[in-house]
Amino acid sequence: MNNQEIKNVIVIGSGPAGLTAAIYAARAELKPLVLAGLKPGGQLMDTTEVENFPGFINGIMGPELMDNMMQQAKRFGAEILQENAVSVDFSKKPFVVKTEKEEHKAKSIIIATGAEANWLGLPSEQRLRGKGVSACATCDGFFFKGKDVAVIGGGDSAMEEATFLTKFANKVIIVHRREEFKASKIMLKRAQDNPKISFVTNVSVLEVMGENSVEGLKVKDNSSGEEKTLPIQGMFLAIGHTPAGKIFTAAGVETDAKGYIKVHNNTRTNIEGVFVAGDVNDPRYRQAISAAGMGCMAALDVEKFLAEQETELRS
Ligand code: NDP
Repeated sequence: MNNQEIKNVIVIGSGPAGLTAAIYAARAELKPLVLAGLKPGGQLMDTTEVENFPGFINGIMGPELMDNMMQQAKRFGAEILQENAVSVDFSKKPFVVKTEKEEHKAKSIIIATGAEANWLGLPSEQRLRGKGVSACATCDGFFFKGKDVAVIGGGDSAMEEATFLTKFANKVIIVHRREEFKASKIMLKRAQDNPKISFVTNVSVLEVMGENSVEGLKVKDNSSGEEKTLPIQGMFLAIGHTPAGKIFTAAGVETDAKGYIKVHNNTRTNIEGVFVAGDVNDPRYRQAISAAGMGCMAALDVEKFLAEQETELRS
């Protein structure tokens, strides 16, 4: 189906970046269309308490924060569709965004598709996905009541997920490939102080054991080469993320070597009229608040761009 109306701006993505962009664009009376994806809300939907988003003295649950943002965008007139952008054509104007349901057209675009969880890439890990292997403790932690689980990674996500999992699991082992941790001191200490959490460091994960459920984790010591099997029934990945920008790269949007969309001038990409905000551009800060800030900037840049276009047309 083709939607013939040409929107001022289509926001692709509905995490903090996309929804903040939608709030600003809607308040500027641009009537933005938000393609929120099939699972709206972005990565914060997979988190528990957000303690560092300013304005919430006692923290707020991630899904609640995202629902608030969505309601706020709707209140000012943003149209939010639960559709996934599957391809885009930025070669001519109006720009075209195809979803699995229909085709949308717009004068400008804000890309705010965020990033996705990374996997180790082991065949056994992929075979046992959803059968004890997960990249989302918040989504799946509940299923591991009284069980022993491993969390892979040494960053803040690993510490956060491990701490969260202790609500359900009997024991949580943080399995990390180095002795040093990328995690912030406060989050590392919180995990270290938790009696249910232990650490296995300087190891590589070789295999997730088990046919139809996780029965253990085979790891190899990176110094001695010694192999051992950790008796666990669940494995959670927390080894970083990859930007969700493939369909845009295919349409000529410039990215860096890791696939993060490059900005040329504030939030502008290399394609005039296409803007970017949030984790799909940001390998460094990756915070809800920095994504939201960039969403605001992108919407303001779009507003200016559309005004310039109109002035050009009139003269
Ligand atoms: P990070 O990139 O910070 O950490 C990824 C971890 O996974 C690193 O320890 C890395 O090891 C390890 N790793 C990566 N690839 C592999 C692999 N193939 N095999 C084994 N281990 C691997 O990602 P996070 O998701 O933890 O954090 C991303 C950002 O989000 C950070 O800026 C973080 O501060 C922030 N964040 C903040 C939170 C909060 O404040 N509440 C919560 C969660 C995240 P190595 O160290 O050797 O590179």
